[in-house]
Amino acid sequence: MHHLAPYQAGLWLAEYLNIRCQLCAVYRSTPQSKLSPTQSLLRPSLSDQHSSFTKIIEQFHQRFSSGLLCTSCHNSITWLPKPFEVDITAGRTLTIRAATYYDYPIRQAIRAFKHHEDMTKLPLLLHVLRQLPRPHGCHHDNSVIVAMPTTDERLIKRGFDPVSILAAHLSKHWDIPLWKGVKRIDNTVSQQGLTRAERLSNLDNAFTLSAPAAVKRLILFDDVATTGASLQALARTLSNDPSISSNNKYHLWAYALAHGSQS
Ligand SMILES: [Zn+2]
Repeated sequence: MHHLAPYQAGLWLAEYLNIRCQLCAVYRSTPQSKLSPTQSLLRPSLSDQHSSFTKIIEQFHQRFSSGLLCTSCHNSITWLPKPFEVDITAGRTLTIRAATYYDYPIRQAIRAFKHHEDMTKLPLLLHVLRQLPRPHGCHHDNSVIVAMPTTDERLIKRGFDPVSILAAHLSKHWDIPLWKGVKRIDNTVSQQGLTRAERLSNLDNAFTLSAPAAVKRLILFDDVATTGASLQALARTLSNDPSISSNNKYHLWAYALAHGSQS
């Protein structure tokens, strides 16, 4: 239960020891608790069963956390873009919500993290990710997070899987477990630079379910959603799975760290 997400110790160091904002490096950073009182770092489910241990942790956090960003930088990047919808099947749509836009400075941070394994960008990305409100009615007993799977080939080439790292932190923040029942089987070309039609056909049959999920609420997660084609294809695979009877379908949510424009 009290497992650590990847690079957790480094994140704590960044949050507790750095006095300056991670983004502008000029102003003092502000503790998360003072930036947005509704979005405590503590897992929301714990507030129901507020143990004295939890209270101590909360007090410790408020007292000693210097935060990651200054108020001004926080306000400049934590837009919640308008959710957008993609079709899954006839009459069913998937709503995709992102924590911010794929623009400066998040775009540069995501690229450095993804393509150059620059872990110094991780605190900033997670700060943004934590602004995503947990989907209503979803909790650790009835939901799982499905991180956009990568192919074995890409994993070997890259050496690490950036989406799974972000998803692990979202899992910890929301207190909703990860589920790894979907595999990516395409070893085809990258999605970058393809038209929407090319992306969709490239994504046909890209995913396969290794087992049905134990719960019915699946929260799909990807790092960047531009057209939403990858999330759409993943949602299609999950909703078309023959092992699920039609009156027992999964309820699907979709989240991304950043919503990119196509330009
Ligand atoms: Zn700043």
